[in-house]
Amino acid sequence: MKRILITGGAGFIGSHLCERLVNEGNDIICLDNFFTGSKDNIRHLINNNRFELIRHDIIKEYFAEVDMIYNLACPASPVHYQYNPIKTVKTSVMGIINMLGLAKRCKARILQASTSEVYGDPKIHPQNEEYKGNVNPIGIRSCYDEGKRCAETLMMDYHRQNNVDIKIARIFNTYGPKMALNDGRVVSNFILQALKNEPVTIYGDGSQTRAFCYVDDMVEALIRLMNSENFTGPVNLGNPHEFTILEFAKLIIKLTNSNSKIVFAPLPSDDPIQRLPDISLAKEKLAWEPKIDIETGLIKTIQYFENVLKTL
Ligand code: NAD
Ligand code: UDP
Repeated sequence: MKRILITGGAGFIGSHLCERLVNEGNDIICLDNFFTGSKDNIRHLINNNRFELIRHDIIKEYFAEVDMIYNLACPASPVHYQYNPIKTVKTSVMGIINMLGLAKRCKARILQASTSEVYGDPKIHPQNEEYKGNVNPIGIRSCYDEGKRCAETLMMDYHRQNNVDIKIARIFNTYGPKMALNDGRVVSNFILQALKNEPVTIYGDGSQTRAFCYVDDMVEALIRLMNSENFTGPVNLGNPHEFTILEFAKLIIKLTNSNSKIVFAPLPSDDPIQRLPDISLAKEKLAWEPKIDIETGLIKTIQYFENVLKTL
């Protein structure tokens, strides 16, 4: 049994991680400011005496005695992180400084939820951890990309300077139940549009690519990374099956038996053209690769959204 702090624990990935770690017998502190997370995601855990929910913003200091910290707090959808970009930078940078200070004092191990966005609009394909990236420092995605890059810098500097025990996960597009209805990312947008027989909105011509990892596979990877020894990362975590966004839209229309038509809208600036993780390092160091194929994962996600829509 470990005392584990999960920041962003009421969010999409965080709530799955809370559930899994509570079920494994750990003592969980779930800390969240509820910007994009929801009590509904963790409501079933609230009466469990191994689970504690705290409303707190990680840009402020937080004190507790813990063994491990998963730092997931940060809006992940472009719509949400661009809503208040200054706050996004504060969450990534001031937030990780506070969490690293806590880790240093408690001698806790800390995992940072970093992102494929540290590679920006990548010029190599697929992306491996050696690649330094192609990030625009002054664009509309920079608050997120540069915030996460600076958080990685701080993780490494606390590790080198203060010997803090760190793990850096570079998470690629992840999807599954408990994504927010207003999330705005491609998986939830397309599923909701298809279920309502509304037009499916492709930004650009749909030739840009992404690869989608089901949330259970991602949670397994994060736990393996946290429990690994003599390995700090950064390590890419994601599914190495690439889709164009147009192919992905057609797949979702097929799986939902929808009458939706595809419509095209302008591509937002700095939207990465091609993204695919090279997961060789995760295979080698964590003996991990995704197990859930895209159709199985999408069907579970579609069922979740169907049920949520029935309750509205
Ligand atoms: P999410 O938006 O569902 O969850 C983020 C959670 O953090 C929410 O509950 C939100 O309320 C909380 N939060 C935001 N700012 C906070 C603050 N200042 N203080 C306290 N809580 C705060 O997003 P998610 O998809 O679950 O992503 C979780 C983490 O994984 C994020 O750090 C994200 O950058 C990273 N990540 C996710 C993906 C993905 O595809 N889902 C990809 C790459 C990286
Ligand atoms: N996208 C789209 N339609 C939508 C939402 C997103 O075509 O309704 C595109 C978006 O422009 C990007 C890809 O889908 O090229 C993935 O977008 P998402 O916001 O999910 O995450 P990103 O990987 O860009 O952070």
